[in-house]
Parts: sequence; structure tokens; C-alpha cells
Amino acid sequence: VAVQANFYQVKLDTKNDLVKKTTENFTQLLCTRRSRLKKIGQKVMVGDRVVIEDPDWAGGRGAVAEVLPRTTELDRPPVANANQVMLVFAMAEPDLDPIALTRFLVKAESTGLEVCLCLNKCDLVTPEQIKKWRNKISQWGYNPFFISVETYAGLGIAKDNSVSLWEKLKNKITVISGPSGVGKSSLINYLIPHVNLRVAAVSGKLSRGRHTTRHVELFELPTGGLLADTPGFNQPQLECEPLELGYLFPEVRQYLTAGSCQFSDCLHRDEPNCVVRGDWDRYEYYLMFLEEAIAHQEALQQKP
Ligand code: GDP
Ligand code: ZN
Repeated sequence: VAVQANFYQVKLDTKNDLVKKTTENFTQLLCTRRSRLKKIGQKVMVGDRVVIEDPDWAGGRGAVAEVLPRTTELDRPPVANANQVMLVFAMAEPDLDPIALTRFLVKAESTGLEVCLCLNKCDLVTPEQIKKWRNKISQWGYNPFFISVETYAGLGIAKDNSVSLWEKLKNKITVISGPSGVGKSSLINYLIPHVNLRVAAVSGKLSRGRHTTRHVELFELPTGGLLADTPGFNQPQLECEPLELGYLFPEVRQYLTAGSCQFSDCLHRDEPNCVVRGDWDRYEYYLMFLEEAIAHQEALQQKP
């Protein structure tokens, strides 16, 4: 659940019978990594499932002897076995900007993980505004959670048949992302009260400050499941291939299969017999980000 220099905080699997008998003292062991793993260059990441050797149950120590195969692996933040990315934005303060939101969504989609969206500070807007955004974003292919950490709106058990935020997070490893000031720390503090991340005052420094180190830690939800908080960044750089970009928009992804456009290198601008039409809400953002992706690729090619 945490990596600190050359030490690994390993939460014990209490469902494992071997562990169950011996864990009166500790639920986590502070572990080193076996030199055998160092030799083969086997990293140990937050989120990894590991095998521990030589546990010292009295002292709370052990050694990581093996890393089990990962289902997923993220680079930034470095997290193994994450199931989903939960993007948090605010309805107001700061204002909800569809371009910034799309930038984060596209970045999140590029991880290949499932992406879900949480819109906070609903207490600051009218029900009409919420409805307007719900309709807009559903055209993008997302079904956001509308919440307020201030009033607890949207944070209980869902009234209708919809999945509640709690259920969405249950027993999953979720990476939380989003710009500064939208209420990520407030939300995590609400979900996991003992964590107590610092919440920035609106007037104070909103950016950076909180995460001075590039240190990732997983926090355990009372309902089961783990949350990874990411260092706040406001303008994630899109680094995808131009040809990949269309797949990062759910509303067009469904039309894009191999051979769907006439040209296999179709960028869906004005090529003939392209299945992507220009009549969708985010098409202009797509074109904007396409320019960025092309510029990024050209910059890469110019490097020696
Ligand atoms: P972070 O930078 O995303 O972690 O945001 P913080 O959790 O530090 O919150 C930024 C500011 O927004 C703080 O002043 C919070 O008190 C405030 N805030 C958080 N959630 C809500 C909410 O639902 N409604 C309102 N009105 N303010 C909120
Ligand atoms: Zn096309």
C-alpha cells in the first residue's frame, strides 16, 4: 500500500489462513525487497500483490520475495492493478470548463482503465445546471456522479436503481485524479475519515503545495477497496498518438473498428469515407487535441 524509499508497507491478506493465525499484532508489515528481485530488476509498486518471506510477527517486519503478475500497470502515478480512474471536477469554484474536463478525460482514457467521473460542489449550482451538464456529458458517453462533499448530496445510497459512488469504489483499486481545488482531498477525507489529507482554503494556495513528494499511497475504504490519490496537476499533457486519439472519445470509439474508415491512417478530419462525422458535441475539442497530438509526435521525431 505504500513505498517509502527502499521499504514497502504491505497490508496482510487476512483472508489467507496462514496470515489469519498470526496477525494479532500487525495488519501491515514493513518490508524490504529480496536482493534476488533487485537483481532481476523486479520493481515493487503500490497496488502489487506480493509474497512475503521470513515474517517477523513480533516486530512487524518481512521481506518481499515475489511480485504476483499485474493485471494493469500505470506509470503516473505508479500504481499496479488499478481497476479504474475516477476523475473529480467541480460544478463551480472553479467553473466547469468542458475543454479542461475533456483534456482530463482523454488523459484518463489513455490509461486503458475504466474511467468514471464525479462532479462535486453541486451545492453551488441550480438543479437546472446539473440537468444541463448531465445531458451534455451523457452524450459524451459518461454517467457522472453529481455530489457535494459540503452537503453530502449524492453521497448516500442511490435512491433509484443506479449504482452509488460507494458501490462503484467497493473492492476496486481506484486512482483519483483531477485539477486542484475541486474537492479531491475533501472527498477522500469523507470516504476515509482517518486519512485527513489537508484541505486547502479557497483563498489559499490551491496548487501543488499539498504533494511535495512524488509519493503514492493507497488508502483503504471502510467498505473494501483502495484509493490512490494523485499529485494535483492542472494541465495534463496529451501524449497519445494522433491515430489513437479517436479511441479516447467514447462517443466515437464505438464506430471505430479495424477498417471502419476507408483509410487505415484516417485522422477523421475530412478524409473521404470516414465513419466519424462532424456533428458531435466534442468534435471541435477532438480537432484541437489532434493538433496537439500531431505536434507532440513531430517533436518526438525531431529528437535524435
Ligand atoms: P483538492 O485540491 O481537489 O484536493 O480540493 P480540496 O479538497 O482541498 O477543496 C478545495 C476547496 O473546496 C476547500 O475550500 C473545500 O472546503 C471546498 N469544497 C470541497 N467540496 C466542496 C463542496 O462540495 N461544496 C463547496 N461549496 N465547497 C467544497
Ligand atoms: Zn475516419
